[in-house]
Amino acid sequence: MQMSLSIQMGALVLALITANARLAAAAPTQAGGKPNIVWIFTDDHGYQAIGAYGGRLKNENLTPNIDSIARDGVVFERAYVGNSICSPSRATLLTGKHSHMNGKFDNRGAFNHDQPQFQKILRESGYQTAMIGKIHLDGAMQGFDYWEVLPGQGRYINPQFITAAGRTEYPGHSTDIVTDRALNWLESGMDASKPFMLMVHYKAPHRNWLPAERIMKEFRKRTFPEPDNLFDDYTGRGTAARGQDMTIETTMTMRSDLKVTEGSERAAYLAEHKPVGKDLIRWKYQAYMQDYLGCVAGVDENIGRILSYLKESGLDKNTVVMYASDQGFYLGEHGWFDKRFMYEESFRTPLVARWPGVIKPGTRNRDLVQNIDFAETFLDIAGAPIPADMQGRSLLPLLKGETPGDWRKSLYYHYYEYPAEHSVRRHEGVFNGRHKLIRFYGVNVPDGEEWELFDLESDPSEMKSVYADPEQAGTVKALKVELERLKKHYAVPPEDGGLEIRQGNQRRGNSAALGTLKFTFKRGAVPNNQAPYLSGRGLELSAEFTYNGHDGVLVAQGGASEGYSLWLKGGIPQWSVNRSDLGVTIAGRDKLLPGKHTLSVTHGKDGVAALKLNGEEIARGSVGGGFGVQPNDSLSVGVDSGSPVAEYGRANNYPDVIEQVRIEMKP
Ligand code: CA
Repeated sequence: MQMSLSIQMGALVLALITANARLAAAAPTQAGGKPNIVWIFTDDHGYQAIGAYGGRLKNENLTPNIDSIARDGVVFERAYVGNSICSPSRATLLTGKHSHMNGKFDNRGAFNHDQPQFQKILRESGYQTAMIGKIHLDGAMQGFDYWEVLPGQGRYINPQFITAAGRTEYPGHSTDIVTDRALNWLESGMDASKPFMLMVHYKAPHRNWLPAERIMKEFRKRTFPEPDNLFDDYTGRGTAARGQDMTIETTMTMRSDLKVTEGSERAAYLAEHKPVGKDLIRWKYQAYMQDYLGCVAGVDENIGRILSYLKESGLDKNTVVMYASDQGFYLGEHGWFDKRFMYEESFRTPLVARWPGVIKPGTRNRDLVQNIDFAETFLDIAGAPIPADMQGRSLLPLLKGETPGDWRKSLYYHYYEYPAEHSVRRHEGVFNGRHKLIRFYGVNVPDGEEWELFDLESDPSEMKSVYADPEQAGTVKALKVELERLKKHYAVPPEDGGLEIRQGNQRRGNSAALGTLKFTFKRGAVPNNQAPYLSGRGLELSAEFTYNGHDGVLVAQGGASEGYSLWLKGGIPQWSVNRSDLGVTIAGRDKLLPGKHTLSVTHGKDGVAALKLNGEEIARGSVGGGFGVQPNDSLSVGVDSGSPVAEYGRANNYPDVIEQVRIEMKP
């Protein structure tokens, strides 16, 4: 008995040694044998435009190199994002947290670079870290040994880059240049004695979809299959799908998006054939696909260059190569381009990875994964510590083909950027791999909220919400419970309370005859025609909020020349007013204690303002009169969107709960 057990254990140990030896043999001579990571990230690359994902474009041979990564490794068929838009997705990539935790809700607010990010930990763990290309987070990068990033969206042609040393410009196409810079770092920038994390972030295929000349020539001759729902009329869904502004038909522009310029071949075609109605939409779709897919082909060609370099240098054997996009994109589905919605094409994102000796070639993974998982995965691959407050899970076991038994069964999603370009309303939701429950909320949604439910099994294109179907009552109930569970799990702040605007003494103006407006509100601006009409008046304002040590804007209206802002700086309440370009701030003296507070302001027509904390006056001052001309920027809660009223530094987005804001205009 004793003997036989020890023999069995011996065999087990031997098997483990053999497995380790196989891995060790594959590793090159870098310090500790830790794997390198090459993370390739694009902007707006829909999974439909990748051969390995199948779909209607699978026979177009658009992505042979991405497909080769998939063939050598794994395709994640159910990879999703938490907030389908550029900057927030990148903030999640670096922090491993949902937007409400990293403070980057939308493309406009500032990103707090001082917060923990995976690359800082990776670097402390002996990795060298490099970031090249589009990051779309203003301000100096932290935690990278080397960084060279596009300013904002960056340019397609002759792109500029920001580095720690200043700006440089390179002639050529952005996709080619980002690759050149990455290969340059691999060849002559990095320290070969250390493992590395290289992030290669392409701008392409972001709008306005401008491929390199050599590719454009070829793609302008091609035609591509249309989606079945190119002519979607949005019956079967609610206000949000109908009210968006992202259709190929109406929103896509001839000049900038489709490059119909004087003397161009496209202009000549339109002049000769004069397509209208569906024919025009079809023509626009083809022109869009030629340019968008041309950008995709350019990315893929450049990924081929990276893969070749890794192979020729021998680095490929101990390098994990991962490819993903910041979110998906509509390629004519629902008649749309752009992203933002929790509907499948933009909620999902491509994710493929190769890692010789670890990932079994040809793996198709169906687990629910999300972009909150990326940061932890990098740390886990590197054997670095994972902070407890990161919100994802490492994909390392999945890469090894060993999905943990307690892997997540549902995903949380939340989109915030409204009102904004493309007019996609704020929404949150839950997806369990089959059913998707979405809650649209806020201004201009009937009753303050509107729900949709889709069964992806019977309705994969999400054409008909079955939320009101009595047969779905049980599913709806269960998913609402699950949504609440997820919100608790991810520490989503309780819904901000209401916003109430009482418009006294209405005059003819953009807000005339509105009376009392009540919004169930969550972060961002109200439509300008519903904002208080300030001109020549005073106001009374109060904000109930929870203070947890964070600064930010509680409520603001207007901008640098006219407007006001109630905000916190170093925990001290501030009332800033701009009137005819003159700025005055009155401030309390003491830092707030953690907990719930009410700040209220009386700002008279005589220009005298009083600031009260929990009913006690803490400051008083004068700006010489009531408000001046009506500002262009609207009213925003929890953030000062648009032109800032005050110099907030990084303290713009208020990260904690705002229970209630009341504003009453005084004649
Ligand atoms: Ca994007």
